Amino acid sequence: MEEYKIRIQNAKQAIKNADYILIGAGAGLSTAAGLEYNGEGFQRDYKEFIEKYHFEDLYTASFYPFSSQEEKWAFWARLIKLNRFGEPLKLYQELLEFVKDKNYFVITTNVDGQFETAGFDKEKIFAVQGDYRFLQCENACHNKLYDNQEMVEEWLKHTKDCKIPSHLVPKCPVCGGNMEMNLRKDGNFI
Ligand SMILES: [Zn+2]
Repeated sequence: MEEYKIRIQNAKQAIKNADYILIGAGAGLSTAAGLEYNGEGFQRDYKEFIEKYHFEDLYTASFYPFSSQEEKWAFWARLIKLNRFGEPLKLYQELLEFVKDKNYFVITTNVDGQFETAGFDKEKIFAVQGDYRFLQCENACHNKLYDNQEMVEEWLKHTKDCKIPSHLVPKCPVCGGNMEMNLRKDGNFI
């Protein structure tokens, strides 16, 4: 225990003395900060989806092959709202407090945008695996990303029986095809 405390102290001192800070963060940080991908919170927040699709956890649920776009976006609306547009998490805020006066940069495999939500400068974040906040063309016909925040609110408002209405299904403005989450899951990732 003592040795652990000393290591924490040393790390604190090293950060204090540093001119540049490069933060590398993965799933463990969001888990430690309280974002749940399974367990009680998941059971409560996704109850009707779990009943319908027998999801076991949120990670595998995000790869579920929905049989319609209406179902797909009803599920994603819930996930994006909870994990991307929620209240800032304390652990991320504490980390920011620690480095905010330094020349910092964040590289993260997390797609939940929690660095941005906590107040980190978004010009100083590289989310290499994508971001729940953005949609892209499923066919990757062009490389623009589309902010989904307003769409998500509309989808949530109009979701019924785990489906959004057909007229709210997003379509690619260039090729007219389906849209996809901007997440690195196949070769079409932008
Ligand atoms: Zn397209």
